[in-house]
Amino acid sequence: MSYAISGSEITCACPSCGQRNRVPPGHLTSRGKCGACGAAFGPLDHPLSVGPAGFDAIVSKAKAPVLVDFWAEWCAPCRMAAPHVAKTALEMAGQAVVLKVDTEAHPGLAARFQVRGIPFFAVLKGGRPVVQQAGLVGADQLQAWLRQAL
Ligand SMILES: [Zn+2]
Repeated sequence: MSYAISGSEITCACPSCGQRNRVPPGHLTSRGKCGACGAAFGPLDHPLSVGPAGFDAIVSKAKAPVLVDFWAEWCAPCRMAAPHVAKTALEMAGQAVVLKVDTEAHPGLAARFQVRGIPFFAVLKGGRPVVQQAGLVGADQLQAWLRQAL
């Protein structure tokens, strides 16, 4: 988990020296260069847990499709979906961004997508939803949605 987000400020820990580098929200699918040692880092290859500020910053700036996993701690199918979501983030690194929204912590974000059952997945392209579907699906389906949106 080398990327972290606080509000809308995204940082990535340099794999070489550990320095945290700021990453613009539109650059999660690109490689960056560490400001301290010059080593390359990225792209994002794991799901990033966001609140409204981070969600809006990333979705408004991303050129790549964005997969959003709406989940909650108490939801067993959400826990079953989690490894598929993580696998998708890894396999689609550089081509797509994968976000997680905790629906208990951020009910307003869930309401914007009219999430009534979880897990609930949305794929956004250019800030607009192109897929919105409730229910457990596997990594193959998640990746197929993202490839359609490329
Ligand atoms: Zn470095």
